[in-house]
Amino acid sequence: MIALDNITLTFPDGGGRLTALDGVSLTADRGTVTGITGPSGSGKSSLLAVAATLIRPDSGNVMIGGVDASGMSRTESAALRRFSIGIVFQQANLLPSLTAREQLLVMNELGEPGSRRRRPAAAAHADELLAAVGLAEHGAKRPHQLSGGQRQRVNIARALMNDPSVLLVDEPTSALDQERGAAIIELILRLTEELDTATLLVTHDLTHLPRMHDTVQLVDGRLAQLQY
Ligand code: ADP
Ligand code: MG
Repeated sequence: MIALDNITLTFPDGGGRLTALDGVSLTADRGTVTGITGPSGSGKSSLLAVAATLIRPDSGNVMIGGVDASGMSRTESAALRRFSIGIVFQQANLLPSLTAREQLLVMNELGEPGSRRRRPAAAAHADELLAAVGLAEHGAKRPHQLSGGQRQRVNIARALMNDPSVLLVDEPTSALDQERGAAIIELILRLTEELDTATLLVTHDLTHLPRMHDTVQLVDGRLAQLQY
């Protein structure tokens, strides 16, 4: 599970500080999707960046699977991300020269020693995930040979290569039409159940929210009552 407790985050802004998150608390259990909505600039991406331990808040605590990430060093939080957190950004950021399957395999080569020994298991896991996102037949294609929706599926599969307990997804449908967007949301809901992740899913598209286990709205960096 992931628990954010009383998170406040500010950024430098001219002479003063801009408050991006103001006392935000949020808990999500494994096997559930929490939808996070709110207008542009309300702090959604900032909240995901804090949850991902990519940005350290001014105050408040981040607990990932019972581990307190708040006081961790950069090295410790990098290890936490590598083993426990899957991150899907708005843009797929796939490497143009790699095939879909290679985008996943490369995750095994980052950082840790023993990557060579783990290659067979990583290859099997990559094939499993490509099948799970509906791309079993497309593993040999490079990004330019895939549609926007297919690239987003590769992006999601890649984030799941390390068997994360927490999955953080930022506006995955923003570049897609309604139908492909809805399919991506369905996919995230299904994978969350199958892989038992605690998933935070940012979307500005309110039509998807009723499908989620829980929903919150950010307004000016604060949690507000959700209306839709
Ligand atoms: P959202 O994802 O809901 O559109 P963001 O979390 O990106 O909102 O931004 C929240 C507020 O924080 C905005 O006012 C934005 O301009 C500001 N902000 C976000 N990132 C930075 C940054 N790195 N430096 C300064 N201000 C930032
Ligand atoms: Mg954003």
